[in-house]
Amino acid sequence: MTSPANEPTPPEGVPDQLATDLPQLTPDELRNTIIYAQELLQFHDETASPIEPGPNEDIIRATERDGYTEVVKRTTCIEGCDDCPHGPYLYHVKEESRPEGGTKVRWMFLGEVYPDEE
Ligand SMILES: [Zn+2]
Repeated sequence: MTSPANEPTPPEGVPDQLATDLPQLTPDELRNTIIYAQELLQFHDETASPIEPGPNEDIIRATERDGYTEVVKRTTCIEGCDDCPHGPYLYHVKEESRPEGGTKVRWMFLGEVYPDEE
């Protein structure tokens, strides 16, 4: 069906196990995996206040848009690793109403930003 030459290569930073497993998933499984990953990511970011950088974060740019804030930030691991700092990454930050009342800030990870895209 697809020739190996057309197969995308995983970006740096993808764990070996996942780089092996992901190409074997069906499109449906991949879609569900993305949703799950987004939820996990959101869970990690949930404690962070919307635009204030955390102790290991560096906000490069925050731009108010219609209905959301476009944030570019770079993160550093608490322990530090060979690839630190990570990013810059682009997020759309949105405040959403909770069904039970109040609001919740939702970070949507959109991907890495390269300087030549600025
Ligand atoms: Zn790191």
